[in-house]
Amino acid sequence: MSSALGGPGMSHRGARPEDGVRDMIIISDIDENGININLKTRYKEDKIYTFTGSILVAVNPYKQLLIYEQKDIEEYSGKKISQVEPHVFAVSEEAFQNLKNSGVNQSCIISGESGAGKTETTKFILQYLCSVTNHTSFWVEQQILEANTVLEAFGNAKTVRNDNSSRFGKFMQVCFDDSQQIKGCIVQDYLLEQSRITFQSKNERNYHVFYQFIAGADASAEFREQFFVQPINTYYYLSQSGCTTLNGVNDTKMFDRLRLAMNVLKIPDQMVDGIFSVISAILHLGNLTFEDVEGEKSDLTSKDKEILDMICMLLGFEAEPLTDSLLYRQIQVRGTVTSIPFKVQEASENRHAMAKALYSRSFAWLVDAINKCTNPGQHESRFLGVLDIFGFENFEINSFEQLCINYTNEKLHRFFNHYVFAIEQEIYKEEEIEFAHITFTDNSPCLELIEKSPRCILKSVDEECRFPQGTDKSYITKQHEAFESHPCYIKGDRRMWEIEFGIQHYAGAVTYKVKGFLDKNKDTQQDMLFEMMHNSVNVFVQDLTRFQDLLGVKLEDMGGRQTISRTTSKKPTVGDTFKHQLNALVDILTTTNPWYVRCLKSNTDKKANVYNDKEVLTQLSYSGMLDIIRIKREGYPIHVPHENFLEKYKCLTPNLSPGDEPRTLSTKILNLLDLPKTEWQVGKNQIFMRNSVFEPLEERRIIF
Ligand code: ATP
Ligand code: MG
Repeated sequence: MSSALGGPGMSHRGARPEDGVRDMIIISDIDENGININLKTRYKEDKIYTFTGSILVAVNPYKQLLIYEQKDIEEYSGKKISQVEPHVFAVSEEAFQNLKNSGVNQSCIISGESGAGKTETTKFILQYLCSVTNHTSFWVEQQILEANTVLEAFGNAKTVRNDNSSRFGKFMQVCFDDSQQIKGCIVQDYLLEQSRITFQSKNERNYHVFYQFIAGADASAEFREQFFVQPINTYYYLSQSGCTTLNGVNDTKMFDRLRLAMNVLKIPDQMVDGIFSVISAILHLGNLTFEDVEGEKSDLTSKDKEILDMICMLLGFEAEPLTDSLLYRQIQVRGTVTSIPFKVQEASENRHAMAKALYSRSFAWLVDAINKCTNPGQHESRFLGVLDIFGFENFEINSFEQLCINYTNEKLHRFFNHYVFAIEQEIYKEEEIEFAHITFTDNSPCLELIEKSPRCILKSVDEECRFPQGTDKSYITKQHEAFESHPCYIKGDRRMWEIEFGIQHYAGAVTYKVKGFLDKNKDTQQDMLFEMMHNSVNVFVQDLTRFQDLLGVKLEDMGGRQTISRTTSKKPTVGDTFKHQLNALVDILTTTNPWYVRCLKSNTDKKANVYNDKEVLTQLSYSGMLDIIRIKREGYPIHVPHENFLEKYKCLTPNLSPGDEPRTLSTKILNLLDLPKTEWQVGKNQIFMRNSVFEPLEERRIIF
């Protein structure tokens, strides 16, 4: 913890943002503009990394810089942050050294908006750790690096903001043994975006794996036949956005890489085939078109019957139950199952829900497979965790997903506040100095509004989900009533009361549209689908039902076939599950020594050598960077041990009587120089100063 917020302040007297300094903490009176100028000056020289104390700021260069080579790794290995140029390797090294020396688990918290460079940063950290621990087994290293290949194929997609956007959050714990060798890795995933599987906006793509799979099939007739693959533009789930390719990316090659990665991760061939069968089946599901029957029911078209056969073969299902589950909703009332026909729109939606369920279970299966392969076993408990999770979002239209994302950011922000203040105040306490001057905006009220039982927004959505007649409208009405006087709740314009509400987040006010909130929170259970999956002859598909315990259902044997019944009416909602996951994450982070990397996007056009001040300034306003600097300024950013202080400044007071303790002498110097008393304090071991004292002191010393 010693390096936290420290930095080599002493040698940068009178530093200005125009100089592009390596550590912004030492610039006096810096504001967001100053931070921006400093970052821009460095960016122009391809210096994309800058420290703010121990917090690393990384500005996305959108071009390959030759700073991640083996020689760079060697340059940073074994060095302290204070001795080197800012770099993601410097932070990785410091965190690794801290783990080694203190035995305290470490975490790197990487934040920033979409396209800012979080995932690339994560990979550089992993690359660094794998390289410096050079006795780590080659296989373990490969498995950790290739886990990312699989996760990115299934969890990343092209969006308008980022060609390789992660549509899930992840926390990767790299585990070490007593001799500092990597023993394995554990991945926790958060909130995979499900809507993308069935719908993509213009110029965006579905998950990469779909295109890689089709490109792979284009190269092999045998593969095409095995998985019933058709040309890409025949699939509704891939062609609706008008974008199927990625600039500079060869999907055929990526498919080969994916297969290799699955091999490295020891996923059995049979399971790999199963995964691709599911991918293909999802695409065929998307092509089903339902016909209306007398406005009451729906039916499959004759063309659909062919598609249905393919889906059955791919998933190992029987045609009859699949048809039933596509056309009828099954309701269990006191043990008796009743079928109610879907209207055409409902049938179409139900099919999309099936596609999403199949995909998200496959993703969960893959994360589980990665963990089984890379898990170090029980006894390796020391870890360095890397968190690559979605940044604050405020779009034109914000929905339940944005609420969860911004909730995550509130949670991490509070953790950050605690870290920054707690550490600084701990030092002040230890040194027995006064520290009442520091104020900060506590975001706890906002967090409580979202998550604190018994009355909070997540609870309001949950309650309405469990209410048979609940609708988005009935939910918002009750919520407005419950929270209208809460300082962070925004009821908004009267004309919009039935459709939206707002939250005053630490990063700004966000308006949420409630349409679809209840459905998204319920994650509608596909009971029939799970029953078919369980009875499937495809072992992968059958294995997907292993995750059902979480879903509040159980299997019952009904004359050779297994049927599913509910164990509880209280299946956890999406909000519930996410809240638990987030709390577990924060519990883990709390036990670690955190390191922060703040990623910033230099422009929204993904262009090299373009630095857009306005866009960087907006991101800086949520980054907490100014807070760090402000805290440092409101506190006492410069800490100098008494002995050093004396050594440096005794020349300024020649009449000083020797013989006293360094502490007494240092105090005398400060008193004699008549410096404003609010700007410095004397601790047990150190002198604490603000820049307004430190700078004149330095000037006098130099003149002297
Ligand atoms: P999202 O939240 O959408 O997942 P992200 O923050 O993870 O976004 P990345 O995928 O890491 O963003 O980065 C986006 C793109 O920016 C990368 O594909 C790469 O082209 C470029 N990029 C990011 N960091 C660097 C870097 N250090 N050097 C070169 N290019 C980079
Ligand atoms: Mg990412």
